[in-house]
Order: sequence, then structure tokens, then C-alpha cells
Amino acid sequence: MGTLAATDALERDDGRDASTHARVLVIEDEPGILDFVRRGLEAQGFAVAATADGAEGERLALTESFDAVVLDLMLPSRSGMDILATLHRAKPNVPVLVLTARGEVEDRVSGLEAGAVDYLVKPFSLAELLARVRAQLRVFAAASTSTLHADGIEANLLTRKVKRGDVSVSLSGTEFELLVYLLRHAGRVLSREEILSSVWGYQHDPMTNVVDVYVGYLRRKLGTPADPAPIFTVRGVGYRLGGTA
Ligand code: CA
Repeated sequence: MGTLAATDALERDDGRDASTHARVLVIEDEPGILDFVRRGLEAQGFAVAATADGAEGERLALTESFDAVVLDLMLPSRSGMDILATLHRAKPNVPVLVLTARGEVEDRVSGLEAGAVDYLVKPFSLAELLARVRAQLRVFAAASTSTLHADGIEANLLTRKVKRGDVSVSLSGTEFELLVYLLRHAGRVLSREEILSSVWGYQHDPMTNVVDVYVGYLRRKLGTPADPAPIFTVRGVGYRLGGTA
């Protein structure tokens, strides 16, 4: 009896990669599709929360914990694009599978540069939906346990701990997000606009100097006068972490 319970608990703890215990939020206003998606996911062992209302969906996505969100774009009371933008800012680590009609706003969506977004064009099969949701969960499960590092700087995405060499560095939430973005694109020149839209959200005033201010904070925390942080200014363009100065 005791052995059984222990095995059971072990399997539960280990079950992150399986669909069995993942929680998925479905926001879709077409009752037929909502029902189809919900039943399909539940049959595969996912725990599903579902709503047909955009504002309610956004509230759930922000206040509750989900492993993935399936999101329709055309919704009453709040559009899927708005929800996507909000989620991208507030919970960048929650993967979103967007359901679109063929050709519908694909350009605008891809303009988000959100790694967390995948698309499924209607009509789709259940097998296709499940494959995409599982793929998204796998990618993000892997990302959440991994550590990013470049040029002697290390950021743990799970614990949000940052080190330069052996020295621990304490960063604010925004500083951490900025550093993660720079680390993910280490060696590449990033424009202020790219950084702004990816870290602060694309609705931010493009004339703001917030990127420069935060790069300054990062440099001060990660470097010393004798050993400056490897975050380089590329004149007229933006910044680059790592690579040759
Ligand atoms: Ca719709």
C-alpha cells in the first residue's frame, strides 16, 4: 500500500513532460470549436479551463496558473491580439497557441517576436492541435530548467539567479528580463526598438530612453570600472552582449 502511494507521488512529480497534469486555458467564442478543443484536450489528460469571453479569458490567464493557453483571435469584449500582448508582457514563459482563420492578421502576430507563440490555422484536426500543444509544453519545460550563459554571465530562468563569473548579482524584474533577452541574442546587435518591443511590450512609446537607462543599470550591476560588463553600445543602432568590442 505504502509502496503504491510512493510510486504514485513519484509519477506525479515526474509528470511535467506528459500531458497528464498540464493545465491549459482555452479562450474561444465559437461553441463548436471550444467544445471540440476542450474535449480533445481532456481526453488526453489535460486539465482544461475554458471561456468564450475575451476579458474573462485574459483575467483567468493573468490570475491563474496555466502551462499553456489556446487563444482565438476574434473574441467578444477583448481581442485575442490584445490578450496576447498582455500575456507576452506579464507572463512571457506561458506558451500560447493562437487559432487563426487563414491569412488573418498573421503579419501583426509575427511582428510580436514572441517566442511563446505558435499558430494553428482553422480548420485544424485534433491530432494537429495536440501535437502543437505538446510541442509547446516540451519547449518551455526545457527552457524553464535551463540556464542561459554568454561571456561569463549566467542567468537561471527558473530561479532567476544571475552570476557574473562566481559573483552573484541581484537584479530587478525588468533588469532580469532585459538581461535574458540580451543573453538569448548574445553576439547579435539589437536595436533599441527590438529591445523595447520584446522586453517592455510593443505598445511602449518609441521615443523613450528606458532601454538606455536599463542597460546602464545592468552595466553597473554586472561590471566594475576595472572589469566592465560585456554589453557594448553599437553607435546609431543599439546594443550587443558579448562578441568582440
Ligand atoms: Ca472567434
